Amino acid sequence: MKIKQIHKLFIESNLVDTDTRNIRKGSLFFALKGDNFNGNKFADDAIKKGASYAIIDEKKYESLNTILVNNVLETLQELANFHRKQLNIPIISLTGSNGKTTTKELINCVLSTTYKTSATKGNLNNHIGVPLTLLSMDSSTEIGIVEMGANHLNEIEFLSNIAEPNIGYITNFGKAHLEGFGGVEGVIKGKSELYDFLRKTEGKAIVNSNDDLQIKQSKGIETIEFNSNQIELLEVNPFVKVKYKNKIIQSKLIGSYNYTNISAAIAFGNYFNVELSNIKNAIENYFPTNNRSQIIEKNSNQIILDAYNANPSSMKVALENLNTLKTSSKIVFLGDMFELGETSKYEHQSIAKLATSFNFDKVFLIGKAFSTTNVKNAFVYDSFESLKKSIDINTITNTTILIKGSRGMALERILTLF
Ligand code: ATP
Ligand code: MG
Repeated sequence: MKIKQIHKLFIESNLVDTDTRNIRKGSLFFALKGDNFNGNKFADDAIKKGASYAIIDEKKYESLNTILVNNVLETLQELANFHRKQLNIPIISLTGSNGKTTTKELINCVLSTTYKTSATKGNLNNHIGVPLTLLSMDSSTEIGIVEMGANHLNEIEFLSNIAEPNIGYITNFGKAHLEGFGGVEGVIKGKSELYDFLRKTEGKAIVNSNDDLQIKQSKGIETIEFNSNQIELLEVNPFVKVKYKNKIIQSKLIGSYNYTNISAAIAFGNYFNVELSNIKNAIENYFPTNNRSQIIEKNSNQIILDAYNANPSSMKVALENLNTLKTSSKIVFLGDMFELGETSKYEHQSIAKLATSFNFDKVFLIGKAFSTTNVKNAFVYDSFESLKKSIDINTITNTTILIKGSRGMALERILTLF
């Protein structure tokens, strides 16, 4: 069956499902395959639960209401691109090493004050998430906002070809997924594939002009620039406060890194002519969830829970941020950073050194990689379990505590020790 015909079936409900545990009535079920599952086996079940059709790629599962294609994943991606072409709307794409989801959420809060927007849900930013994001848009959508993640070269090019953004933003080029990109140069090249797409298609980019590398990489594209002259950072103690035009914007976001994310959201609001009071309100009312730089009060302590993710760049800014806070006692719990490949040992040693160079009261390093580091004045544990056995967290009071590590470390477990 041609994509055009599948699209006709799709727009009857404008719903796509990939999980039989959550089938919505009338949806198209895409029988995707993973390492440990084969969606084809669930096609029948999906239809019984209310899907209108199931898209499959194994003949033996054919039945009434299945549509046999060569490759279900590719069909999903082609359908998403076909759908995107029908939507005559601006699509914003965001990529970068850190801060994509936060910036996406902020932009969405700002733009949704004035437009009907549709944005990536949570962190669904890969070769499946991007198509699903596009397919969640319908004829009433006025602006689409698509987060794109990548851990190797050519991925952003591939996702850009599906989403065909008109306007893009790259949060930063940092030390994340170094393993897959083969180093920082690879990260810059890989993320810049968004700029390459925009250059080729005469799209636009919003660029932080305080970041020389962004300026360099976006050459040849029509850019809308923002910088610290236009949007002034007033304070980070602990929440970011900025001044834009005549308005003071008091966010609920911590860390000077969020100053950039907020600035980008202001720039997008401005570009799409959102009223300043709406921009202000949207930013002031947004607070992060999912362990992303959340502030939690516990036993007289102020805990900065940033356990959602970590890499050398985001570790560095989080430590620097803690250092600038005006509180008397400070403790950090850092967990291993994953996906660093052969630079892992070096990067863990650098972060351990940085963490112990500040005047923090205590530095706890947790995980196998941190266990190989060699620094004075740190408490090192090879796992969360060994940390748990060794310390009585209830002795910590009146302290600002930073908790940060890669997702796999799940350091939010530290909260259960209080
Ligand atoms: P993922 O790769 O998981 O999709 P992401 O790029 O979407 O991550 P966020 O989830 O927004 O990033 O933020 C994750 C963490 O990155 C934050 O909690 C914070 O520690 C750090 N971070 C956020 N913004 C920036 C930034 N502009 N520069 C550096 N680090 C940042
Ligand atoms: Mg994200």
